[in-house]
This record gives sequence, C-alpha cells and structure tokens, in this order.
Amino acid sequence: MALLVQKFGGTSVGNIDKIKAVAKKIKQFRQQDNNIVVVVSAMTGETNRLIEMAETMQKRPTPRELDVLLSTGEQTTIALLAMALNEIDCSAISFTGHQVKIETDNSHNKARITDIDAEKITAQIDQGKVVIVAGFQGADQDGNITTLGRGGSDTTAVAIAAALKADECQIYTDVDGVYTTDPRIEPAAKRLNEITFEEMLEMASLGSKVLQIRSVEFAGKYNVPLRVLSTFVDGPGTLITLEESEMEAPVVSGIAFSKDEAKITVLGVPDTPGIAYKIIGPVSEKNIEVDMIIQNMSKDDYADFTFTVHRNDYDKAMEIVKETAERLGAREIYGDTKIVKISLVGVGMRSHAGVASKMFETFSKEGINIQMISTSEIKISVVVQEKYLELGVRTLHSAFKLDK
Ligand code: ADP
Ligand code: ASP
Ligand code: MG
Repeated sequence: MALLVQKFGGTSVGNIDKIKAVAKKIKQFRQQDNNIVVVVSAMTGETNRLIEMAETMQKRPTPRELDVLLSTGEQTTIALLAMALNEIDCSAISFTGHQVKIETDNSHNKARITDIDAEKITAQIDQGKVVIVAGFQGADQDGNITTLGRGGSDTTAVAIAAALKADECQIYTDVDGVYTTDPRIEPAAKRLNEITFEEMLEMASLGSKVLQIRSVEFAGKYNVPLRVLSTFVDGPGTLITLEESEMEAPVVSGIAFSKDEAKITVLGVPDTPGIAYKIIGPVSEKNIEVDMIIQNMSKDDYADFTFTVHRNDYDKAMEIVKETAERLGAREIYGDTKIVKISLVGVGMRSHAGVASKMFETFSKEGINIQMISTSEIKISVVVQEKYLELGVRTLHSAFKLDK
C-alpha cells in the first residue's frame, strides 16, 4: 500500500462543485489501495479577501492577529472537503495545523516549520481514514497560530510527506506540470517531464510561483519525491528529480520572471572603502532583502550604486536610503518600480558557454534595454522595463527553442 500526500491548491477547491470533484478524485485513489493525507489551500481568492479585510481595520495589521484570520481560509476548506468525502462513503477527518502539531518558529506571516508530530496523522491513517490537514498554517511553541507565507500550503504538504516518509508528494494545481515558462505568459510553453531540484529551486526563487521556494528546499533536503500535476486532467505531470536522467541536459530548461521588483539608484557617492556597506547595511538591518547590486566607479572618485528589492519593500527601503544618501552627500537618488526580472535557468549552463551573449543578442534585436545583469552557475537574470515582460519572455522562449 502506498502512502501519498496530495495537495490541492486554491483553484482546485475554488467552489463547492470543485471541492466535491476533488473528493471524488481522492476516493478513486483511495480505492486503488492508497493511504492518503490531503493538504488543502483556502478557496481561490479567499486569502486575498481576508488580507483586504484586515487592512480595513489596521493599515499594517498586527502580524499575530493576521495569522489568526488567515488560517480560517484553510480551516473552511478542510472541513468542507471532509464532509464531501464522508458524504460519498470515504471516511475522512480534518485537522488544523495546530491539531497535528505542525510546529513553527514565531515569525508570523512567514513562519518556518520546525517540527511535525507524525503520530496523530498516522493513528488516523491506521484507522482507515483519509486525513485532511490545513495547509499554510502551524503554531509556535506557545501555541500562537502562524502562517507560512504566500503559497505556503506547498510547504505543508512536503513537510508532512517528509515526516511520514510518504511514497510521493503530489501537488495538484491548475496546470498539468511545471512548464518551460508560465503558460499564462507564453502559450507555447511546454510541460517538462522532469526538472532537477536545483533548477526548480532557481525557478521558484526567480519568480515561478508554481511551487513555494521553501517546499522545494524542504523536498531537496529530505529527499521527498515531489510531483506537480493537474487536478482537472489526468497525466504524469512533472517529477522533481535529484539527478538529471537524460543523457544531455538542455542548456536552458526554463524561463522565470518576477514582477515583484523595484530598484533604487544612488548617484555620486564618495568612492571609499565601506561605501557599499554604508548604503546596503541600514537596508538589510531592517530585514529588507537586497537582490541585485551594481556599483560603477567613475573617474572622479565618486561611485554610482543601484540595487533591487521586493516591490513591497520599496517604500521602506527608499525612506532608509534617502536618509543615508543625505548623510553621505550623494548627488542624486531615484527609484523605479516599473521593472521586472527575467531569468534563464538550466543546469546545462555549467558546461555551455554563450548563453548570456545569446540572451543579450536576442534582447538587442528586439530593442529591449537591459538595465541590470546577474549570473550564477545555472542562471542568468536581467532587469528590464516592465512593459517588455511578455515580449522578453516570448522571444527568449523561441530563441532558446523551448517551444520545440
Ligand atoms: P495553486 O493555487 O494550486 O497553489 P498557483 O497559482 O500557486 O496554484 O500555481 C499555479 C500557477 O503557477 C499556474 O497557473 C501558472 O500560471 C503559474 N506558473 C508560473 N510559472 C510556471 C511554470 N514554469 N510552470 C507552470 N506553472 C507556472
Ligand atoms: N492560501 C494561501 C495563499 O493564498 C496558501 C496557499 O494557497 O498555498 O497564499
Ligand atoms: Mg500555490
């Protein structure tokens, strides 16, 4: 008998009929002699609705109370799904994160899972039940409800699969696998049969929200067999693998992009040792993550400095940098929130030169100006104006023959 952890995302449980359809699907798996633990998200749009409601109460909602509120989205779907299953004679029981002891640290709204007590779940499985666990939530050591950050139900599923040593963790969603790029932007995108953890981790970090980054980290760390599949059409989906199985990996496996970017430029600061630290230090101290950084030196002992942050952090970062810039006597400072980051990802880049230049050539032919560049072993990212997002992704997709 196999043990499967199956996660159904927001669109998969988006309304009553869909929840009933998911229940039928689970029953079929159950009848094929599988033990099943189900993790569900809130109904699509529900988490956003709750956040909006919170913000009408308080401009920056108290993180602890926001978690109490947000956890209700998933609490609703677990109960409804359990009822739907019981109605069709498939015995099921639902649990909130706290009830199955999904312990997290205490960083509200972006908590990390530290421990799961598998016993409670296992006891119910042994009684023949389908166990349904609320995604995206847990509780800290003091019993405060926490949530795991947007898309966090993926991580709940992988963490449970790791704790139970499940045979597979299946992420059911509204696409039938991981694609060469987001099919909503490039309809010619192709489903990948397999993708390595390393590549998936880069794709997720660089903006592909099909899996939450932490779920991929977790799966890699604990060796959890992970697969992305469609709730609505049957198929093999995409397996996230430890090793590339094909003889030769494609140079570029996928294109990721992120609209959550903003950049800040400080012009004409004295080019002295420690200047980068003086500008970036105060930003990092406020827990704002700085991504790409460029510093160019000029002849006259002054330097220009540009870096990117998450768009949500832009206002706060700008405030901090303004203060610093004034202190340093910077000539000018400006920001831009109308930028996006587009990235090529592929383990094959390790052994192939020329990917960057081909990327630049492709953009140059389209007249897309590249503002920033950053590379690592298996990825190349560029920052361009927001209006070039679709054009940029699509021309790269065909230039690197990902549609073939
Ligand atoms: P769920 O609600 O099931 O968690 P998400 O919306 O979080 O679903 O993730 C699925 C979506 O991820 C798809 O609808 C797709 O638009 C988007 N996506 C982004 N990049 C990719 C990619 N490379 N492959 C597949 N889907 C992607
Ligand atoms: N409901 C949460 C969200 O919308 C968690 C999830 O769907 O994974 O981000
Ligand atoms: Mg998701």
